Amino acid sequence: MLRIGLTGGIGAGKSAVSARLAERGAVIVDSDLIAREVVAPGSEGLRAVVAEFGEQVLRPDGALDRPALGLVVFADPAKLAALNAIVHPLVRARSAELEGAAGPDDLVVHDVPLLVENNLGPLYDLVIVVDTADDVRLDRLVRRRGMTEEEARSRMAAQASREQRLAAADLVIDNGGTPEELDALVGEVWEQLKAHQAEASDRA
Ligand code: ADP
Repeated sequence: MLRIGLTGGIGAGKSAVSARLAERGAVIVDSDLIAREVVAPGSEGLRAVVAEFGEQVLRPDGALDRPALGLVVFADPAKLAALNAIVHPLVRARSAELEGAAGPDDLVVHDVPLLVENNLGPLYDLVIVVDTADDVRLDRLVRRRGMTEEEARSRMAAQASREQRLAAADLVIDNGGTPEELDALVGEVWEQLKAHQAEASDRA
């Protein structure tokens, strides 16, 4: 099994790349998605979050009120740490479960937005960076994801720079072109990943 860390700045196209890798048969472990699953209504995680922060972080329908929780934790590092202490172990356990279900020939792709910021590269056999110029990301975030320009700029500024990310990359996917061009580049990377995996299993 080859374990791959996929990262890129917000709006670079990680989701676009992971969807294309999934179509080719990769097992995708998406930490943002898992972080939402582990605090879904009825979950052990949501019960723990409510025990810590109170019913004020619930919406009337019983789901987690993320903006309300955000107001609490982003104003207080100790509370953010308390939230992470609940959510991170659950995310790790669920990721391990998904990975454990993958077969020896599978390519397991972890979608990790803050891989570079949190220095997580060593956890993976290979790091793929989706690289897209800042002005293109900004434009996509505003036009396609409906963010305000200010919101997009501040989210981008809080992350690693393009140069820092590229320095951590084993493979780079340039997503400055059209979706069709991205298809072709992901196809090339898929072949490279398969070749890496074949080499690794020859060595094993
Ligand atoms: P990330 O997961 O890295 O934040 P996304 O994959 O969500 O980024 O991409 C950001 C936005 O740009 C999405 O709306 C996506 O559909 C769009 N997008 C991604 N790649 C391209 C592309 N090559 N051309 C045009 N739009 C794209």
